[in-house]
Amino acid sequence: MSAHKRRFSQSHACTKSLAQEQIFRALENHIESIDHDVCDAGGEDAFFVADLGEVYRQHMRWKVHLPRVEPFYAVKCNRDPKVIQLLAALGTGFDCASKAEINQILDMGVDPSRIIYANPCKTASYVRYAAEKNVQMMTFDNAEELYKVKRHFPNAQLILRIATDDSKALCRLSLKFGAPMDTVLSLLELAKQLELNVIGCSFHVGSGSTDPTAFVTAVRDARTVFDLAAAVGYDMHLLDVGGGYGDDNFEAIAALLGPAINLHFPPSVRVIAEPGRYYVVGAFTLAAHVIARRAVPGDVLNGGKSSYMLYLNDGVYGNFSGILFDHQHPVPKVLKRGDNYCFNAPTKSSSLIRYSIWGPTCDGIDCISASANLPDVLEVGDWLYFTDMGAYNKCSASKFNGFHDEHLVHYIVSEPGAEALLM
Ligand SMILES: *Cc1c(COP(=O)(O)O)cnc(C)c1O
Repeated sequence: MSAHKRRFSQSHACTKSLAQEQIFRALENHIESIDHDVCDAGGEDAFFVADLGEVYRQHMRWKVHLPRVEPFYAVKCNRDPKVIQLLAALGTGFDCASKAEINQILDMGVDPSRIIYANPCKTASYVRYAAEKNVQMMTFDNAEELYKVKRHFPNAQLILRIATDDSKALCRLSLKFGAPMDTVLSLLELAKQLELNVIGCSFHVGSGSTDPTAFVTAVRDARTVFDLAAAVGYDMHLLDVGGGYGDDNFEAIAALLGPAINLHFPPSVRVIAEPGRYYVVGAFTLAAHVIARRAVPGDVLNGGKSSYMLYLNDGVYGNFSGILFDHQHPVPKVLKRGDNYCFNAPTKSSSLIRYSIWGPTCDGIDCISASANLPDVLEVGDWLYFTDMGAYNKCSASKFNGFHDEHLVHYIVSEPGAEALLM
């Protein structure tokens, strides 16, 4: 590791623990503002604390480890307006997949050249909308899409998305998108015949990727696409290395991806990426209230020892939707028990109690955790919190059963640099 990278990671760890103190204070302040005995219906709803400083730190971390690659944030992951505002101020681009996402970014005053319409299977009227708004960059992966673009936006800057080996990713995307390598030549020939403008190649190794070498293989395949394109008469100059970066494996991916890009692509090729999860996962903490409890005496699933079922005021139809759609396993922690806040309380493993944790709707699928061990006997009125709730959660929450899909977000900014940008 270079001295620069090492210094960065040390200061990173230090600011993170300061940030945690600020997050805790925001959680406590909000709960203290609720009078649980007299509040209006929903006054004790679940809520988020979002640390925009964490988004800022992730951006700086990106620039240290992948300096050649321009991030285009994948809006679908979390379209929180403050997150988008900060990223716009930081100068990232944006990956949009629908009219509403394009609209949200343009409304922030972002130039259309900073948007990639990265959905290879687009609605025709949305393609016309992109043309009208001058959002030129868009992906494709099949022949029908080329005819569609020819008809509705013949001057678009097209990027050919190829399939990848995403077998080790949490959420596989190449089952649905990406041209197999053996179709690339015919697609490029068709594009040429239609006199379309193909400027580059993209891929996505799958969201929640666990195999950094998948990036290396995909970069090599993209090189093959560039060479095939040259043979057809295209001078490709954009490589889009997609999303799939995690908070915990980012350095491992960057260590392989950065050199692979430099090995296969000269500096004249512009390189962009579409990170989603990476930017926001750690920035959001969710607090939820224990609305009900049921004792399970002699729980057979707990070796005959008693356990409890806890019911929270948020669940898989709400801000835990990532359990269903994103294979998430949120870990509950005790935030407030009785009158005491327990944010950093040490856990005595000898006194752990087994819980199953449920959401508020009347559906049996609404289970947050089938088995969680917590150090205390929790009661109705206590609060739990969950960290790392920023990606693929609130964006896919629903109003099922009449519960909210919009929850309060308290923002904190644990980095002065980010604060300056948000003013
Ligand atoms: C979802 C998506 C992303 C973001 O993926 P992450 O794994 O969250 O980084 C990027 N690009 C495209 C085309 C996507 O569909």
